[in-house]
Amino acid sequence: MSISEILNKVDPSPLPQAQEPQEAAALTHEEIKLLLAAEGEDKKKLFDRALQVKLARLDNHVHLRGLIEYSNICTKYCLYCGVRSKNPNFERYQLSDEEVIGCAKLAHQLGYGSVALQSGERSDKAFVDKITYLVKEIKKIDNGSLGITLSLGEQTEETYRRWFEAGAHRYLLRIEASNEDLYYKIHPRDAKHDFHQRLACIDSLLSIGYQTGTGVMVGLPFQTLDDLANDLLFFKKKDVAMVGMGPFIPHPDTPLWQYRDQIPTAEKRMEMTLKMIAILRLMMPEINMVAATANQTVDPQGREKAILAGANVIMPNLTPNEFRENYLIYPDKACVKDQPDQCQTCLDVRLAAIGHKVLYNAWGDSVAFTKKH
Ligand code: SAH
Repeated sequence: MSISEILNKVDPSPLPQAQEPQEAAALTHEEIKLLLAAEGEDKKKLFDRALQVKLARLDNHVHLRGLIEYSNICTKYCLYCGVRSKNPNFERYQLSDEEVIGCAKLAHQLGYGSVALQSGERSDKAFVDKITYLVKEIKKIDNGSLGITLSLGEQTEETYRRWFEAGAHRYLLRIEASNEDLYYKIHPRDAKHDFHQRLACIDSLLSIGYQTGTGVMVGLPFQTLDDLANDLLFFKKKDVAMVGMGPFIPHPDTPLWQYRDQIPTAEKRMEMTLKMIAILRLMMPEINMVAATANQTVDPQGREKAILAGANVIMPNLTPNEFRENYLIYPDKACVKDQPDQCQTCLDVRLAAIGHKVLYNAWGDSVAFTKKH
């Protein structure tokens, strides 16, 4: 089957106004693999079609989530992540309540519409209580006008429910790799890093009613095209509302650093990420997809490229600058030195240059989720 034939399976005349969820063409594993391998003209056709579908369904709007990197204290030691508990090479911090609320107020002032609270993973009572408190406090800003996304790792169903009841309505928990074997090549095989536990967490989030986001890193050691195709099918099967995918970036203080010469080049990891975004846009036309900061770290134009490949969400960093250097999940993270107001002008200009615009003062919920519920 040719790439054009596969792309023609995807509805060429989508109906953006339809109130019902719009079913997309069901791509098979083999078709996805062919698209992932597309080069030259074929690759261009894939990106063009993904952009066309996105513009038809979601317009040229980009939603912002002001990112607050709450703490780098982490009880886990994932083999890829720079803030893993076994890395002694930087200071651990936790933002004060005032700092978090200050960031959220700034997000509101800047018209971002939503904040995302992300952190290293802890599940002790003090942490759970603190997050519950912070979510409630953020909700008080201008009578609940900010949407709240959490990205705080694996928790009990009861904790997820408490945070939901406190006012969080979106949760990001990347599966990281939907293939169990690959999962255990990038995580230690122990009770703290259990693949089935992570799956169960995603299921809890979905059943509680969060707009649930998941995702994977692209270009991991040992990752194959089959794995990537199955990751996309996994997102579709779980019918998630949001997906975040970004290139894997080796960190020198982590065990996976030793494989840095055995992975595709940064350029190839970036390109594969863009193909993953484009194909998923065809498979799930109305979900929210983030142009991850990792894209911009690998390529200065990475976020724009992700938007043009089908992403529709950007997470500008609002963490106070003095802490950012200590939240390096991967090295050379983009925007570590930017100030929020610079960031906003920069975004407006960069997005206008590619025919997109930020939708300010809106939660920017997943259209797929809203139609379903
Ligand atoms: N503790 C939270 C937040 C983790 S950081 C959680 O477990 O969900 C958010 C994402 O950064 C992770 O899910 C992972 O996919 C990504 N990440 C971590 N290390 C990375 C690396 N070295 N390169 C690229 N992405 C990385």
